[in-house]
Amino acid sequence: MPVKTILLDLDGVITNFHLAALQQHGRPELYDQWPINAYDIAGTLGITESEFWKALDTFDFWAHMPKTPHADDIVQACLDTGCEVYFCTSAAWGMSASGKEYWMRTNYPKIGHIMTRHKHLLAREDRVLFDDWEVNVKKFETAGGNAVLVPAVHNCLRSSNPWVTVINSLRALGL
Ligand SMILES: [Mg+2]
Repeated sequence: MPVKTILLDLDGVITNFHLAALQQHGRPELYDQWPINAYDIAGTLGITESEFWKALDTFDFWAHMPKTPHADDIVQACLDTGCEVYFCTSAAWGMSASGKEYWMRTNYPKIGHIMTRHKHLLAREDRVLFDDWEVNVKKFETAGGNAVLVPAVHNCLRSSNPWVTVINSLRALGL
């Protein structure tokens, strides 16, 4: 079945959450040397989860998050396929939901979005998810969808180019 819908993760694919979070904690120098597969940012920084998230719980942090270097190119490549394109992002606490809403409306006003932590519930064989977290990719595939791991500083593909990965994956899907 041909893919008709593209779901784009926000944090780590379109927004540079990792860098923004390290900046907010005064440790931006760690970005380029981040240990691979260290998704536990708080633990890696040596602070508690609540200390980590408390510092990020402002509207401005989420509303003015920097884009990743390839964000515009990735979005355009997806739109060029003619598929429906949606952002698919988790935001279940504090100021993140309203800040992300503002961010998406400001930066990509024509693209709709789905906010959920449970992305695998959206999995279907005519949908593809692009995400920087291997857990999300595996769960989406197991649930019957197509999913692509997008290179990021904190995952196993860190030396690959995110835009090239997306383009090649779209081609492999026949898009
Ligand atoms: Mg992500």
